Amino acid sequence: MKKTCIQCGLEFKGRADKRFCSILCKNQYNFQKRRGTKDEVKEIDGYLHRNREILSTLMGESKKEMFEKIVLERAKFRFEYHTGIYLNKEGKTYHLVYDFAWMEFSNQSVLVVRKSSSSKTRT
Ligand SMILES: [Zn+2]
Repeated sequence: MKKTCIQCGLEFKGRADKRFCSILCKNQYNFQKRRGTKDEVKEIDGYLHRNREILSTLMGESKKEMFEKIVLERAKFRFEYHTGIYLNKEGKTYHLVYDFAWMEFSNQSVLVVRKSSSSKTRT
C-alpha cells in the first residue's frame, strides 16, 4: 500500500496505520509537536520570569520591602501570574514568584519578601 509520509511528504510502502517513511521523520514530527506546546508554555514562563526580574530589581539586597502597587504596574508586573500561594500564620496570602513572595498590603501597596535561601544549600 502506497502512503505519504506526513512529515516529509515522501511516498513509501507500509501498513495502513503507518504515517511516517522512517523513524527519523517520526522523531522529527514528535519533536516539532512538543515545541508547539512549548510555545504556549513559553509565554507564561516569560511573564513569570519577568515578574521575578522586576521583584529582584526592586528588592536589590533587601529581604523585606514595601512598594506602591503602581510601581509594579508601571514595570508591567503581572499580578495574576505566580508560582504558588502561601498562607502565613496570620492568614495573609502570599503569592510566590520563585524565591520572592508578595502580599497585597493595602489597595495601593504590596509587601515583597525574599524567601530565605536555606533550602537551596542542599542542591
Ligand atoms: Zn518522511
